[in-house]
Amino acid sequence: MLSLYVHIPFCRRRCRYCDFATQVVDQDLLDPYLTALLADIKSLRALCATTTLTSVYLGGGTPLLLGIDRLMQLLAAITCAWQLSSDCEITLEVNPQDITQEELRTLRQAGVNRLSIGAQSFSDRILRLLGRRHENSDVDRVVAAARRAGFENINLDLIYAIPSQTMAEWRESLQRVQKLAPEHISTYGLHIAPQTPFGRAKKRGILPAAPTEDEVAGMWEWGHEFLAQAGYDHYEVSNFAWPGWECRHNLRYWHNKEYLAIGAAAHGYWQGWRWRNSLSTQNYIASFQTKLNGPFPTGHFPVAESDFVTATEAYIETMILGLRLSAGVNLAAVAARHGRPVTEAFPGAVECLLENGLCDIDAGSLRPTRKGLLLQNEICLHFV
Ligand code: SF4
Repeated sequence: MLSLYVHIPFCRRRCRYCDFATQVVDQDLLDPYLTALLADIKSLRALCATTTLTSVYLGGGTPLLLGIDRLMQLLAAITCAWQLSSDCEITLEVNPQDITQEELRTLRQAGVNRLSIGAQSFSDRILRLLGRRHENSDVDRVVAAARRAGFENINLDLIYAIPSQTMAEWRESLQRVQKLAPEHISTYGLHIAPQTPFGRAKKRGILPAAPTEDEVAGMWEWGHEFLAQAGYDHYEVSNFAWPGWECRHNLRYWHNKEYLAIGAAAHGYWQGWRWRNSLSTQNYIASFQTKLNGPFPTGHFPVAESDFVTATEAYIETMILGLRLSAGVNLAAVAARHGRPVTEAFPGAVECLLENGLCDIDAGSLRPTRKGLLLQNEICLHFV
């Protein structure tokens, strides 16, 4: 059982805060990119043909900019290459402005059963500041269209800690999201990366002031309370879902399980290797045109970096990723998986987490408290 991530790096234009591996769409690259993705599928399938996929995540970027026909070819190639479990979760990331009713129907019929919509904010002022192309009403429109097309599993992404964002704007965004009743909500605190337009503006001192640390913590707390009252389970630091609607694909990452990945800049984890494909779209495409495949992953053509994860590193990752989940990590299960108890691998860590109120133990699981969910960095320090 594995999952598959597919990266499609195209956007109509770059948002001011974006530090994802994306570029402005170039129509001349779309066919070569699809050809490269199909070659990537073929070469990975040659390595693990008997795998069953339990989730597929088409992310980016704005995957639909590949074009609906190319997306259909891509999905067909994936379903030809691997068996998909009968309840395979197939997610597509979409921008509110870039999708039509007809396209939603086509995607649903092709097996896409989960949409992740980049709403980000319901304040048009904030959306303009972020450099987003949509307005808040586009989110209402696309959710209604998705429901009509038969989508029963919808995620909405929101961002907080945005420069100049007020608590009132954050509350309004959460209230508007709750009215739309998505099954899943992701809320991300904005990190301003230096190489983005936001980062450069910050360096020049012309970016509006961001909310203070206390205000950001207040936004997180308010979201936690409000969404819990609305019936959402705060199951991961940044993620809320109605019970049973957690994102299966992302749970694999947090459970530190292996997954395949295709596309420029995509990261994979399989047979103990973590790898990243070439960051540049052009180099990714060229790697399939010019090189011969070698041993996986060091000689595998699109791979730019790879590391074999040691047993100690794997244990650290299991703890750090698992403690992002409110369910935490089951101590007996991780001891069995990694060959020794947590108390032996990380002497003093559990006691310290309990003493500082960052975690508690419930039914044999070490779980982050509310304070621990908010102060993830402090939890990490106990394992590295
Ligand atoms: S739509 Fe998303 S991936 Fe594309 S530029 Fe904006 S933030 Fe980046």
